[in-house]
Amino acid sequence: MTEPILYEARDGVAWITLNRPEVRNAQNVALLMALDDAFSRAMDDDAVGCVVLGGAGKHFSAGHDIGTPERDIHLPFGRRATQYYPHADKPPTEATYVREAEAYVGLCRRWRELPKPTVCMVQGACVAGGLMLAWVCDLIIAADDAFFADPVLAMGIPGVEWFAHAHVMSPRQAKAFLFLGERMPAAEAHRVGMVHKVVAADALHDEVAAIAHRLAGQPRFAMALAKKAINMAEDRMGLRDTVDATYGMHHLAHAHMAATSADHIGGMDPKSMKASMDRKG
Ligand code: ZN
Repeated sequence: MTEPILYEARDGVAWITLNRPEVRNAQNVALLMALDDAFSRAMDDDAVGCVVLGGAGKHFSAGHDIGTPERDIHLPFGRRATQYYPHADKPPTEATYVREAEAYVGLCRRWRELPKPTVCMVQGACVAGGLMLAWVCDLIIAADDAFFADPVLAMGIPGVEWFAHAHVMSPRQAKAFLFLGERMPAAEAHRVGMVHKVVAADALHDEVAAIAHRLAGQPRFAMALAKKAINMAEDRMGLRDTVDATYGMHHLAHAHMAATSADHIGGMDPKSMKASMDRKG
């Protein structure tokens, strides 16, 4: 089996790559745990001063795995970010709540708080769960072919678990983004302030490398403190509270869909989700 995450450290930068290109880097828990291992490895290595997170193939990430044979939502897994008990043997609503608290919100918060700077390198699709990985990185650099979307309203869910929409763009832009579920092109994502920089697709790697090397050369402790200071400012603007407060609504919606449709995501699969976006924009 191929490794779900690739790791390479060179010249002060750890390059971490989502490596399920055949399924547009759909995220199962095996991938997320391997990603957490990779981030820890980068933190442990004093020679690493910056982390780049990218995706193999044409797309950064199509989101959480909702339809491959390796989808593993029913399997138990070890806790890294929370002290929740195992989810796999619990009743459905509780199991989903506990699983996502650890695998989605818990890990995203843990990665946002990494003391070294992180740069997300986005090409192609960055959809739903893909947004979560990008949003918890410090900088986001997108290829001009990249697009961003949170189409999970089509599942009957009010937005992805890491509910940062109104913090990575204005509340009104966030409403349009979420309510319409349309693809937001990279240029627009730059205009609204979600991404740091947009570059030609064939220049993406070199642009990211140049910035990552500059970040890696900054004083380590000052960088960690600067990052923490901005993150604390963001939390004082409400990010942490928003994510925690909306988590219950997210799971009310999962429970509602489980009670009224085929499953907790309205019976949607990758094909029907793509069709929902194709209908829109
Ligand atoms: Zn969910």
